[in-house]
Formats: sequence, C-alpha cells, structure tokens
Amino acid sequence: MIKNLIAPIQAWLLAQGHCVGCGTPLVKGKRKEVRGQTTVTCSCGRIFIHDKAKNKYRRALFDEI
Ligand SMILES: [Zn+2]
Repeated sequence: MIKNLIAPIQAWLLAQGHCVGCGTPLVKGKRKEVRGQTTVTCSCGRIFIHDKAKNKYRRALFDEI
C-alpha cells in the first residue's frame, strides 16, 4: 500500500532531477564517468545514472556502481 504511494512520488522527484531519498537537486551531486555513463552520487549516498541524451536521471543498478 505504502509502496504504491511512494513509487509515483519517487518517479516524480527523479523526473524533476531530484534525489528520491532526500530531495536534493542532483545537479549538486558528485559526477563520475563509469564505462561511458555518468553516475551522480547524492550527498545522502544514493547513486543515480544521468542520461545526457535525454537529460534524465534514474537509479543506478547494483552492477553499474
Ligand atoms: Zn539524496
């Protein structure tokens, strides 16, 4: 039930370029190139992938970190 509510909020935050955990704009995160992708590490420790072509963020998968 709660999960059903949180998922759309997290998707919305990510679509706005914000961390799903703490709401910090990901432009402030630490960027690093990993195998041709840009990873963004938020100050809270969550890691995202920045899709430069679409200018969108998504959560990094375990093997992408
Ligand atoms: Zn965060």
